[in-house]
Amino acid sequence: MALLAADHLDGSGLIQRLRQLRRLEGVATCSAMLHLLTHLELPEDEAEQLLVELNSHRSEVGATLGRDPGLPVAAVDYLSNVRGLLRNPTIVELDELETTERSAVTDSLTGLHNRRYFDSALDIETRRSMRYGLGLSLLLLDLDLFKPINDLHGHRLGDLVLARVGGLLRRAVRDADVACRFGGEEFAVILPETGRLGAFSLGERVRLLVQKAFEEPFEGLAIELSVSGGVATFPRDGETAEMLVERADRAMYLAKKEGRNRIVLYHSERRRFVRFPVRSNARVWLRAGGSSGIEMRPINLSRSGALLSTTGPTRTEGTVELKLRMREREWVVSGKVVRSGRRSLAVRFDRPLPEDCFEGHVRRSVAPRAARS
Ligand code: GH3
Ligand code: MG
Ligand code: MG
Repeated sequence: MALLAADHLDGSGLIQRLRQLRRLEGVATCSAMLHLLTHLELPEDEAEQLLVELNSHRSEVGATLGRDPGLPVAAVDYLSNVRGLLRNPTIVELDELETTERSAVTDSLTGLHNRRYFDSALDIETRRSMRYGLGLSLLLLDLDLFKPINDLHGHRLGDLVLARVGGLLRRAVRDADVACRFGGEEFAVILPETGRLGAFSLGERVRLLVQKAFEEPFEGLAIELSVSGGVATFPRDGETAEMLVERADRAMYLAKKEGRNRIVLYHSERRRFVRFPVRSNARVWLRAGGSSGIEMRPINLSRSGALLSTTGPTRTEGTVELKLRMREREWVVSGKVVRSGRRSLAVRFDRPLPEDCFEGHVRRSVAPRAARS
């Protein structure tokens, strides 16, 4: 759209830019531009050829008139009067067209992208990730117990709540992320070049923002609101848009089932719990064979086990006891040594740690390719 309105681009500049975009994005840019201009649907090569013709026509008309008629006018003239491809053409104000186009892809209540936009954006992003071997994550969010809020305070208040959450979400995401109203009281964020932990961090951030925002009275009413979410990541959880949606939805269902107000990563049966790199303020002591406890540096922790760094070869085996301290909380867990090497020691806990044990302990910048800071 901006390209179409760009006065500084002469005809050949425009075509060059479209070719460049096509290379970068892998989409049929000339077809899209032609469709925007004329509603004609042509394959990319024919569309490009036609745009070249339109440009020469624009120059010719410009030379006759002594001023540049602009691409839209030149297009209508060429296609209806020279090629006879358009019948009853209508010239549309570009600003107006832009407003219409925007409203076609925007949800009016929340100002986020709408479902239609989401569907096409996710499709494009998964294909782009496939082509360039990039990461991509999808975060689905659903407001917890929203129906009672509607029932108790009315649909209008419900709408205001949705708009407020939309605003929070819009401000929480990066420019490259696509935040959408997925439907009803469900939201979705497409996170290009972002791994599962990056998406998880965003989910947690939004979850906490929502919780905090509604600790204050909202429209003079005490409303408790929380949000649950699910994350699925390309390609490990799914390689198509449909699969990613299905799996993020499944993770979200688990979040609801496990008590709401949480974000859950989709996981296959391969690994029951996700491992988290931990901050340096998590401390772990190993107690084996009656020793009082040697402090060890955790490499990563999950609810079901720990990978600890060792300075030299360890001969620890069998059952061990670990004392974990994270922030002000402490757990003593027993587990089995499953691997004991020169640099690391892996322990599987006999019983999983409590669900909320990692609250506040996940590092923010763990997405691959430093996509999220
Ligand atoms: P859960 O935690 O299991 O998600 O509970 P819930 O009550 O949020 O779940 P449910 O899906 O049963 O309810 C969703 C409600 O969202 C029902 C519907 O009335 C309401 N809703 C959907 N779209 C809108 C909307 O545009 N405006 C308002 N005010 N309410 C909406
Ligand atoms: Mg719902
Ligand atoms: Mg809900």
